[in-house]
Amino acid sequence: EQADRFTVGGMSAAATDPDCLFCRIVAGEIPAEVVAETDTSLAFRDVSPQAPTHVLVVPRRHVADAGELADVSPTELAEVTLLARTVAQQEGLDGDYRLVFNTGPGAGQSVFHAHLHLLGGRAMKWPPG
Ligand code: 5GP
Repeated sequence: EQADRFTVGGMSAAATDPDCLFCRIVAGEIPAEVVAETDTSLAFRDVSPQAPTHVLVVPRRHVADAGELADVSPTELAEVTLLARTVAQQEGLDGDYRLVFNTGPGAGQSVFHAHLHLLGGRAMKWPPG
């Protein structure tokens, strides 16, 4: 519901979608290997890792993609990025890592709850496929 998303100040008292995979991980209904968390975000390992470190950082609230997250709460978007940096440090990536928001199905987004991919631990190529 649109109105819920804009209860700003209520940050993590966020909207959830019972049919959303990542909302269910945030709620603890589906298991995941959580590596870090804050009041507003959760970081857990990708089930199909594409690098030695592959962690997804998600806002706890349900928003479809990075643009929507920026629209609803620039602060939470920043917190997701900061949590990714914390995890990169925890993982010993020494400042070398890639952050990716796939946005839209044509760009490879398959779960429509915003998530920042943190990839590291191997050499990265550019451009990505
Ligand atoms: P996207 O393709 O939307 O950018 O990224 C979705 C990511 O979620 C994929 O890398 C995929 O491997 C991961 N993923 C899908 N289902 C699950 C799951 O049940 N648990 C975890 N931990 N990751 C998942």
